[in-house]
Amino acid sequence: MSNRNQKHQFQHLETKAIHAGRVGDPSFGSLATPIHQTSTFVFDNVQQGANRFAGEEGGFIYSRLGNPTVMELEQRMAALENTEAAAAFGSGMGAVSATLLANLKKGDHLVASAALYGCSFALINHKFAELGIEASFVDITNSAEIEAAINENTKLIFFETPINPNLVCADLNEISRIAKQHQLLTVIDNTFMSPVLQQPSDYGMDLIIHSATKYLNGHGDVVAGICCGSAEQIEHIKMTTLKDMGAVMSPNDAWLISRGLKTLSVRVERHCDNAEKVAGYLDQHASVKAVYYPGLKHHPANHLVGNQMKRAGGVIAFEVDGAFEDAVRFMNQLKMCHIAVSLGDAETLIQHPASMTHSPYTPEERAAAGISESLIRISVGLEHVDDIIGDLEQALQALRIKAA
Ligand SMILES: *Cc1c(COP(=O)(O)O)cnc(C)c1O
Repeated sequence: MSNRNQKHQFQHLETKAIHAGRVGDPSFGSLATPIHQTSTFVFDNVQQGANRFAGEEGGFIYSRLGNPTVMELEQRMAALENTEAAAAFGSGMGAVSATLLANLKKGDHLVASAALYGCSFALINHKFAELGIEASFVDITNSAEIEAAINENTKLIFFETPINPNLVCADLNEISRIAKQHQLLTVIDNTFMSPVLQQPSDYGMDLIIHSATKYLNGHGDVVAGICCGSAEQIEHIKMTTLKDMGAVMSPNDAWLISRGLKTLSVRVERHCDNAEKVAGYLDQHASVKAVYYPGLKHHPANHLVGNQMKRAGGVIAFEVDGAFEDAVRFMNQLKMCHIAVSLGDAETLIQHPASMTHSPYTPEERAAAGISESLIRISVGLEHVDDIIGDLEQALQALRIKAA
């Protein structure tokens, strides 16, 4: 197998996203790495099979334990996150659950951000509680609160930044300082930023998780996850909760994500260009009550932009000036932007948390979580920004006419 690429240390993220970890095709020399759509691998003889099982010889055994197409994606993501290794999963939640459970057992305690992706919160709050793994949910922007929650059984800190839906951001230097002082493992969900905008390993974060469904793949046609970290940690996860719980990524999905990664930096820069303009447009609009976007001067995390996060990303939250019904009316008026959850796709996607992601909450619970009834989340896509703003404008105008 040619290892021309592997010998080369690529300097820049844009280049790594295209070349790093390439497996290629030693048989025929195809540019694109083949999709190794196989469940198992044939051994030359019994001894070879025995050697591979004993770990005395390289090579593949069975696709739940490893697959060349999946390996290419893992190697490329490790390069992008500046970690030694990575493990691919069948979904972002597969990555979250396997990463946390590989590092927690009955009697252990974790500190988690109170604002988390809904399924991560449910996993920790319900399932982990049943398993005897205790959690404290804290305001991740409040260092004193984090420190106060740490006890002698605390093993790790788990959080995201920026956080859905109001784009509150955690300070990576602060979390790193606290974790080092108490010798805790840090696990961060970096989905909203992608490695193009934020590389948590530079701040000492141990395990970096992505829902690869979002920006990494970028084309809205795959559900997948990935965890990046030290070779030792990733081997531990692979040999326990990946291998034995089995939420593996399919070779076909890995191939699509590796293809998506080739344009990751170009896409993310354009998502940011468009989002900055859309946020500015919304921020001055008479029918918009509030805009939450770290790229805006008045956002509490604005000082972190250009610092721990290169740019503010492609997701914006805003409140239309009105009630639940006005937000619904605005959304139903849109002609191009799709009403859909998820983010990071070429298409602009817009959702109403009170009707959708946070509909199980009561209005009071939503208010406590900072989610107003008229809050709308938009994942700004790659369309021409004037077309995105044009669609928002005609829907906001309709709102005003109906209100008058
Ligand atoms: C979507 C998402 C997840 C879950 O990922 P799936 O691929 O849907 O399982 C986890 N964290 C964040 C921040 C997400 O946006």
